[in-house]
Amino acid sequence: MRSPRWRSPCTSPPRRSRSSSTTSPSSPAAPGSGCSVRAVLSTGSNMGDARGFLGGVVKRMLPVRASSLYISEPWGGVEQPPFLNQALLIDAPLLTPHSLLAACQELEREANRVRDVRWGPRTLDVDIVDIEGYTSNDPVLTVPHPRAHLREFVLRPWLEIDPDAVLDGVPVRTWLERLEPQGVRRLEER
Ligand code: AMP
Repeated sequence: MRSPRWRSPCTSPPRRSRSSSTTSPSSPAAPGSGCSVRAVLSTGSNMGDARGFLGGVVKRMLPVRASSLYISEPWGGVEQPPFLNQALLIDAPLLTPHSLLAACQELEREANRVRDVRWGPRTLDVDIVDIEGYTSNDPVLTVPHPRAHLREFVLRPWLEIDPDAVLDGVPVRTWLERLEPQGVRRLEER
């Protein structure tokens, strides 16, 4: 198993942004503070107040950027209603990758997420798609997310908020071009 590669941003030199478009002067951890996790999250819901659940994550995570909402055909072969999906770019001061995972799971718990059917309906799914400067293949936290490159509902909203994004060394735009259409469409502007 590849061990997690992580340089604590609290002790390393100032971060180099993956692309200029991911730097925001108004982000909570502005350049110079140096101590944060910059990550891409993918959220999804197809039960209950789906829009409200996704909006709740935005309120709590205070993303630097949030994509439009997308409506997506379910992925994974389970018969169920379509999903609402969104991508968020966050700068989380003082969080480590694992504490970010815990925060995502806490949001799922608060939405009364029940894990029964794999890839089945859910009130809220919050996945960590990518973390700047960090890779891990630990099953507890695999980064980049191992199925991100296969999922149009992850890649399309991500591309909207970061047109220069790169996943596993390949532009997100290229991953998207390689996929057959999966029934993902932008629902509305932010
Ligand atoms: P799911 O039920 O699909 O949301 O998967 C949740 C499980 O995947 C949890 O046990 C997490 O510890 C694990 N996991 C591994 N990598 C990730 C990731 N990048 N983002 C979210 N959960 C992850």
